[in-house]
Amino acid sequence: MQLIMQLEIVLNNSNQECLQQNDTLSSIPDQSFALKDCPPCTYCNARRFQYEPPGLCCSSGQVVLVSNEMPSLLKQLFCEKDEVSRHFQACVRRYNNTFAFTSLGIHNYDKQLSRRNKGIYTFKVQGQMYHFINDLVPGDQPPKNLQLYFYDTDHEVENRIKGAERMNASVVENLIDVLGSNPYSQFFRNLKDISSLDDCNILIRSNASLDQRVYNMPTSSQVAATWVDEQDGSGQNNHDIRVFAKTGQSHSVKYNYGCYDPLQYPLLFPYGESGWHEGISKVPKSYQNNYSVCQGILQHRGFSSIQALLNKENENFVSQSKQNTVSCREYYAYSFQIRPNDQSMLLHSGRLFQQFIVDTYIKIEHGALPNQKKRMCTEGEDQENDNAPFKRIKKA
Ligand SMILES: [Zn+2]
Repeated sequence: MQLIMQLEIVLNNSNQECLQQNDTLSSIPDQSFALKDCPPCTYCNARRFQYEPPGLCCSSGQVVLVSNEMPSLLKQLFCEKDEVSRHFQACVRRYNNTFAFTSLGIHNYDKQLSRRNKGIYTFKVQGQMYHFINDLVPGDQPPKNLQLYFYDTDHEVENRIKGAERMNASVVENLIDVLGSNPYSQFFRNLKDISSLDDCNILIRSNASLDQRVYNMPTSSQVAATWVDEQDGSGQNNHDIRVFAKTGQSHSVKYNYGCYDPLQYPLLFPYGESGWHEGISKVPKSYQNNYSVCQGILQHRGFSSIQALLNKENENFVSQSKQNTVSCREYYAYSFQIRPNDQSMLLHSGRLFQQFIVDTYIKIEHGALPNQKKRMCTEGEDQENDNAPFKRIKKA
């Protein structure tokens, strides 16, 4: 009797669930919902979507950033459908990691999910992501990251693909050529001519001091310098990164340094383009009507040269407030827009772009943290040893 009652209750419940499911099914629209077309932004020509807040792309003309055309060989690898390009697109994070000057540290990283080759590709982390730069001398370990640029360069390709069977030697050779114009690559390659690195250390500029509204292609002398111990510290910025020959410890690259992005993502920023840092100027409202962006080059009417324009701006903005500088969110909101003439190909870089997006999101969140919590994170970063609560990614 009890069994029959229980069966009736189960059946009643399942009937109710069926009814609820039917209600749910009946409420599903039978037509797809399409967003209405929106005109592009009148300031930066970014494609806009319905319900997108106004000013998201460029803060109504206040943010202007120049982008560079991606090298044709890299563009081909990112966009073509031939066998080699498809292989590159599947292993793009691995290729980027082997050329990255810094290594990645992640608190909680789902490795299996990011390696999956079926279904929707997902790069998932929880917590913080850190970028680290190693000593100049490899020690007991095989060379990695920046060391690969000047150690045993006769066997560079073999060193880069060692232990990674899926990597293609010809792709690595092509990428070495592509990065021939990268200022960090040029600088580190020159270190192989120094007879003894033990007496030498290097200084990596946190920001390359470029006006990114006009030009974002630094030279090797703008991004780093060699340093000999006997020299005093004059000319050294406290925010610059000083890398020693052999300390046994790695150094963290702070999220608010302009070199944070190009050191970790050489395949996204092949010319060593600087990323966001504090102090990037906005376009003054009074000048916005005189600015136009044409094929990635900022042009200005009414001034004889860019320098004359910058001088004029400096006169007007001697004491620059934070409101006149581009925030981290504004910088990347501008960079991730779809624009018809954008040649940077950032949006076409697939799995590597996903990692970069996650890294950027964490960077923006970190910037928004209250100072107390940020200090706690920074203290965690300084414990750069094997017991630190994060995982290093050696291979993608
Ligand atoms: Zn815009």
